[in-house]
Formats: sequence, C-alpha cells, structure tokens
Amino acid sequence: MGDRVIIVGGTAAGSKAAATARRRNPDLDILVLQSGADVSYSACGMPYYMSDEEHVPRKLLVARTPEQFGKDGIDVRIRHKVEGVDPKKGEVEITNLESGKTWTEGFDHLLLATGAEPIEPPIPVAENAPPVVTLRNLRDMDQIRGLSDQYQRVVIVGGGYIGLEMAETFHELGKQVVIVELAPRLLPNFEPHIAETVQAHLEGYGVEVHTGTAAAELIPGGVKLESGAEINCDLVLMAVGMRPSTGLAKDAGVDLGATGAITTDAGMHTNVERIYAAGDCTEVHHFVSGKPIWLPLGDVANRQGRVAGENIAGGKSAFSGVLGTAIFKVFDLAVATTGLSEQQAREAGFDPASCKVTGISRARYMPAMRPIDLLLVGDKASGRILGCQAVGEDAVDKAIDTIAAGLWGKLTADDLSEIDLAYAPPYSPVMSPVQVAAEVLRKKLKS
Ligand code: FAD
Repeated sequence: MGDRVIIVGGTAAGSKAAATARRRNPDLDILVLQSGADVSYSACGMPYYMSDEEHVPRKLLVARTPEQFGKDGIDVRIRHKVEGVDPKKGEVEITNLESGKTWTEGFDHLLLATGAEPIEPPIPVAENAPPVVTLRNLRDMDQIRGLSDQYQRVVIVGGGYIGLEMAETFHELGKQVVIVELAPRLLPNFEPHIAETVQAHLEGYGVEVHTGTAAAELIPGGVKLESGAEINCDLVLMAVGMRPSTGLAKDAGVDLGATGAITTDAGMHTNVERIYAAGDCTEVHHFVSGKPIWLPLGDVANRQGRVAGENIAGGKSAFSGVLGTAIFKVFDLAVATTGLSEQQAREAGFDPASCKVTGISRARYMPAMRPIDLLLVGDKASGRILGCQAVGEDAVDKAIDTIAAGLWGKLTADDLSEIDLAYAPPYSPVMSPVQVAAEVLRKKLKS
C-alpha cells in the first residue's frame, strides 16, 4: 500500500482531488471524509432541479456515489466529520456523526477541501415566524422542495447570484417572490447599469425588489425591514453570502490570508508540511490584479482539486490563478463578468478607461438576434484589456469567454478588435460585439 491520503470534504475540490490522485497513483490509500450526507454533487445544478425535475433529475446532480468511488479503491465515508488535525503526529480526529464514535487516523498527506458555509445574519426570529432556509447542499435543496406545498410567497434575503437564480426557480414553481437587498442595488459587484437591467427584468416577471434596506426581524407571517415596512411571506431564503470554512485549518496552524481564506502556493500546498488545501476554503491569485481574492466557484474548486490530486500523487502541477470569470442566468438574461471592473482596476494600480457598447448577438435579420450590452475596461498605459461585464439574452457566454481568453493572453484592445472570429448569420453578426467593443475601447484608450 502506498502513502495514506486523507481528504476532508468530498464535494467539488475533494472528490476531484481523490479521483485525480487515484488515476495518477493506483497505490495510494485514499480516505475521503465528508460531514454531509452526499458527495461529488453539483450544487450549481440545484436551482434547475428544483424548477424542472423532469428534465434535470436529482440523480444526475450526483456525479459519483461513495459506492462508485469504492470501485476505484477510494474509501469515501459520509456523515464523518474531522474534528481536529494534529500536523506533528500526522493525525486527524474523526467523529462518525451517526454513531457518535470518535477515533484518530494517520495521514502522510492531508487535503483540506472544507469549502464554504452560508452566512446566517443574526436577525431576531419571533415565534411563529416563517421557516428560514439556506441553500448549500442537496439536503438544503430537499428541505426547500419538501416545503413546497406549505408556502406561496417567499422572501429572498440577498440579491447576489444565488438569490437571483432562486428567484427564477421559485417563480417557475408558481410562487410569489420578493427580494430584499441591503446594498443600494442588486448585484453590488456589477456596474450599476447591469444591475438596473437585471432589476427591471425581474420586475417584468412580477418579482418585487427592495434595495437599500435590510431584513431587520422575522415576524409572524413575514419579514420586517429596517425601513419599517413589513412583507408578508410564508418562507424566507437567506442568501446573503458565504464564508470560507477555515476552522480546522486555523486550529492546525495553517495560514489564512487577508481575505479570510486559506493561503496556498500554486501547487495547493499550505504553509504546513504535508497539508494541502483546495476549493472554496482557499483564496486564489487574480491573474490581472496580481492580488489574492476569494472566489468561491465550482469550476475553480474543480481545477484546484485536480492540481492538489496531481501533487499529492507525486506530480508537479500548478494552478495559474483566476480572472474572476463567472456567469449566471436570471430568467431570459445571462449576466457575466471577467477580469476587473473599472473601480477594481483603479484599486489595482492601473489607469483604466471603459466603454459601454450595445451590440447584437447574431446578424440583425435573424429572428434569434438579441441586443447584448458589454462594458469593456482597458489600461490607458499599455492598451491591455482588463475586464468586461456583459448582460443580454443571447451569446453573452460566448462574448465573455472570448474576452476571458483575451485577458489570459494579455491582449490589447487593438489585438481584440482584430482577432479572427467565426461568422455566419445564425451565430454572429459580421463584426462580433467583442470586436465592436474592442474597437471603441481602442480609440478611447488612445484619446
Ligand atoms: P463545498 O461544496 O463547500 O464542499 C465542502 C464539503 O466539505 C462540504 O460538503 C462540507 O460538509 C465538508 N466539510 C466541511 N468541513 C468538514 C469537516 N470538518 N469534516 C468533514 N467534512 C467537512 N459555482 C459556479 O462556478 N457556477 C455556478 O453556476 C454555481 N452555482 C451555484 C449555485 C448554488 C445554489 C450554490 C450553493 C453554489 C453554486 N456554485 C456555483 C458554487 C459551487 O457550488 C462551489 O464553489 C463548490 O461547491 C465548491 O466546492 P468545494 O468542494 O470547495 O466546497
């Protein structure tokens, strides 16, 4: 038997690391400990299962069960919590959450893939207040689904992407939806005009939006806002954000960064020998700003898990960093971002300029053509593109991914305006919106 590998957390980062390490080194003795009841599932798919379980069946959200891991010689134990790590002895203390039994196991390599947990704001809850739910894992999803017959009007506290995805889900289920957001607008990390477009779109679907006010108290039959207004509802979804799960790491002497998440090098090693970390519990290097950020996203967790798995198995793999590329769907709109906003670019020491362009997604005479808004940011000194935010009903993913590839290659606005892209009327206008925006930005950066 080869080295003993213990992986704490078996969702995206942990299960990817286990599978990668096994592929690379069949001799490793791999144990995955997961405090929850499911492993290797797509949290990202949960809103789509809830609104359309006929086409998105629950079982497809689970990539691999513990039994399937077992066939590859990976020992996956659900409802097993790691209570503590002794890095000197190379041991973890484990509790079986079903039996209550506690014991220790030794490791040669330990991966912390403990993820993130929803923030539950300390809002007073009166007796007979509506039930409060969060959405992080399949059990939360099942709980919300199980309540389906018991609520008709739901208040979503938090106007970030999970809150907005769930607004669509609840609407699809025939529920009335109210969103309450503390910040002056939805999607505080997006440019104001994108947030305004999204809010108008939500309101067009009958979603009630309250911004600039907090949920102050959960009262019988509803939620009381700081503004004094009372909103009737029979379910509250708390979606005010997440925090990295770092308790184990901290106790083991693993360094946390300024973002509050675990710091690692590009190989996912922490400062403590034999201990690696990957996924939502870690901070990552931003490729454009050069600074660490906390970016709890599934694709990032998977890529980091792969790097950690390779290295645990004796490889020399590196995680290059992130651009902050992300996309989500709100009813008919896709909302996407990559790189830096103008303000973030300024904070990172660039001298930025930006342009806002409304392009079209396909040739103007094609029925599927839709407008697409791009806000492209560049650096006056170097001409380099720094970031983009986009919103529209069609081809937003293509535009943002093209620009992300440009950011990765450190292209200038000149380069991007001349890039050779595919054209045929059903897929793109003759000048793609990316080229149009790059052309406008190019002139602005030079003026
Ligand atoms: P987690 O998924 O948090 O898993 C960590 C696991 O570790 C947990 O199951 C936890 O129970 C376990 N654990 C923690 N501590 C211990 C311990 N001491 N002992 C044992 N086990 C422990 N990302 C995208 O990129 N695109 C999307 O469209 C997207 N949509 C999303 C939609 C929703 C509704 C949600 C909730 C998330 C979405 N995400 C999306 C985010 C994505 O799901 C996460 O980034 C990803 O799950 C992170 O994986 P992870 O393995 O790092 O952490």
